[in-house]
Amino acid sequence: MSQSRRTAEEFLVDLVAFNTVSALSNLELIEYIEDYLVGLGIGSVRVASDDGAKSNLYATIGPADRAGVVLSGHTDVVPVANQPWDTDPFTLTRRSVDGELRLYGRGSADMKGFAAAVLAMVPDFAQADLKTPVHFAFSYDEEVGCLGVGRMIADMCDHLVRPQLVIIGEPTSMQIVTAHKGIQGFRTEITGVAAHSSAPHLGVNAIVYAAEIIRFLSELAAEKQAQGDPANGFHPPWTTFNVGQIQGGEALNIIPEHCAFNWEFRPVPDEDTAAIVARFDEFVAGQIEPRLRAENPAAAIVTRPLAAVPPLYRDDNSPAERLARHLTGANTTHTAAYVAEASQFQASGIPAVLCGPGNIDQAHQANEWITVDQLDQCTAFLHRLLDWAKSGAAIP
Ligand SMILES: [Zn+2]
Repeated sequence: MSQSRRTAEEFLVDLVAFNTVSALSNLELIEYIEDYLVGLGIGSVRVASDDGAKSNLYATIGPADRAGVVLSGHTDVVPVANQPWDTDPFTLTRRSVDGELRLYGRGSADMKGFAAAVLAMVPDFAQADLKTPVHFAFSYDEEVGCLGVGRMIADMCDHLVRPQLVIIGEPTSMQIVTAHKGIQGFRTEITGVAAHSSAPHLGVNAIVYAAEIIRFLSELAAEKQAQGDPANGFHPPWTTFNVGQIQGGEALNIIPEHCAFNWEFRPVPDEDTAAIVARFDEFVAGQIEPRLRAENPAAAIVTRPLAAVPPLYRDDNSPAERLARHLTGANTTHTAAYVAEASQFQASGIPAVLCGPGNIDQAHQANEWITVDQLDQCTAFLHRLLDWAKSGAAIP
């Protein structure tokens, strides 16, 4: 064990310096963690993407023949392009603001802070005689639809005793989040027929049809908003919609041949997701396609999925919630409007909660930061986890 001990903040300096924007490879960061673990005598498993450009990584400390606890987080971060940063986003910068010490950098809150706190604790876990194993799991492509973690969960289920629970260290200010919304993302592409704008009868205007479909989506959104149930605890308490990107057309005087738009909805846990997709498909097949084809048989509409993550369903007093309550002392739980990887663990039969350092309000923003105090709180949480895992006690 040649490495000297490093603090969570020191690890965060290193982790933030890896530009792991989702579009880029995360392999240098993965190798960094792998090498660190090797230095402590801990083996790890890579679960790579199809093209090998990215990888998940997981490792186990403690008795492999028992059901353990997973600490999980994503390694990718959202882009910094076109954001007004005051400092280099990939150089962790410490500043005292409003009486608190803040660490600025992309991913500091979402969610390399958690990974840094976990890495700093690895020597303690490795030196302890754990009765309950602890697994560390780091994923890729979370920010673009939780695309990476699924194959790691499958690999873990194949090769480990099924874990008792997972704690995902998303920035919840160390509060316990027991339910989150899902996401269904799509790209709809309309192929019309180009023509001179003075002769619209010879073309099919892809943008006009796109506008009709988008109007239908906004009607669906209004309907879902009206059905919102404030008792479900979400903010906002309904299934939301967004049309987030659109491209189409060549020039003012050309009937546009192409229009494509990306849209999503984020279902609350009790939403009938399939019914929403069916409503959309029926509208397009019943109201749009026949008119489009009647104008010109060459015209077409294609919708394909971009992302599909189920919601995290509240599972009152699940093992994950009970252990998180024990470790934090909290007696309240919360919901999250954002999407996380917890639901994919839950869908594989592993109870899951979110609990990690930093505030989601700073996530995805310019000048993202986390306080040193939040990192310290996470470290204290991990120390309590260590004590519990050493004790071999059942989940309280
Ligand atoms: Zn995140």
